[in-house]
Amino acid sequence: MPLLDRALLGPGPSNPYPEATLALAAPLLGHLDPEFLRTLDSTCARLRRVWGTENARTLPLSGTGSIGMEAAFANFARPGDVVVVGVNGLFGERMVDVAGRYGAEVVRVDHDWGRPVDTQRLLDAHPEPSMVAAVHAETSTGVRSDIKELARAVHARDQRALVLADCVTSLGGIEVDIDSWGVDIAYSGTQKCLGVAPGLAPFTVSERAWDRRVQRPPTWYLDLNLIGAYVDGSSGGRTYHHTAPVAMIASLDAALGRILDEGLEAVHERHHAAGRLLHEGLVDLGLELFAAEGHRLPELTTVRVPEGVDSAKVRQVLLTEYGIEIGAGVGAFASSVWRIGLMGHNARPDRVALVLGALRAVLG
Ligand code: PLP
Repeated sequence: MPLLDRALLGPGPSNPYPEATLALAAPLLGHLDPEFLRTLDSTCARLRRVWGTENARTLPLSGTGSIGMEAAFANFARPGDVVVVGVNGLFGERMVDVAGRYGAEVVRVDHDWGRPVDTQRLLDAHPEPSMVAAVHAETSTGVRSDIKELARAVHARDQRALVLADCVTSLGGIEVDIDSWGVDIAYSGTQKCLGVAPGLAPFTVSERAWDRRVQRPPTWYLDLNLIGAYVDGSSGGRTYHHTAPVAMIASLDAALGRILDEGLEAVHERHHAAGRLLHEGLVDLGLELFAAEGHRLPELTTVRVPEGVDSAKVRQVLLTEYGIEIGAGVGAFASSVWRIGLMGHNARPDRVALVLGALRAVLG
């Protein structure tokens, strides 16, 4: 069986940048080798630039995006803390679940799927929350919420509340500016717009939030006090916590280098241009976009499956005859929506032409 080379145009993983793939093939170094530690330092420094932050505690956690969510609640939510969560899709739902498992008193604010979270409704949900959390780019619906507006409004009202943002599908694709927005805690995943295989969760936390961390979180693996001693040698000298996934970190470092060489603004513009082209092309095909206008993500497009069309069959033909993966919808929209991703290395006009051409042929 020959190796398959698919166009990964679904909700993730995306096709990695070539530099990220190449880095995986380099001879392995030990996780305490000084040469590897230089790569780790480089990765953290590059992550700061991509996040738009000077946060000292900016690092890749070992695990997929969900480990970032888990670490956020484990280290910053105590049992009984009030956590307001904006829910407008699957990943907001998951935040509710995870925060609850760490004992938070979760106040969920439900929105229609396909709409962004509403800042005022989150503010109105509780007068004095410990934390307000929302998903920047809801991958289940293709919607961008205004985290900048949310963070400013929360801090303007209450200096105590921490703002947590899920940036799994936004980092490396659309603007994220942690410091100027005033976001206290944020996490991402490597397999989307950062253009790396799944396996790491870039994480960043402000000094303000760090001062209020849980001293002994109920998880050993995700205790940021312990991980920090390895990543930044904060307790003087780097000490073993768990074996760092060295190949994945080298791969992330290479992708970040590629992104920064191109220039963050240029990368964002490339995503916007590709997204615009896809949206226009889908409408030209007579298809209807799902996410609310003005809040559509360029990197993840949701489109309604036309009446009478077998959603799963179309995806299967795209995969087997054209080598293109696109995603089904989620939850109530599982068979009535498709999700098309143009993330990282795939945010290009040739990928748009490929998926539009194949859809045109399959839909007839
Ligand atoms: N948050 C968002 C917005 C996501 O899109 C995803 C994955 O698709 C996750 C969290 C969870 O990440 P992972 O599946 O890498 O654990």
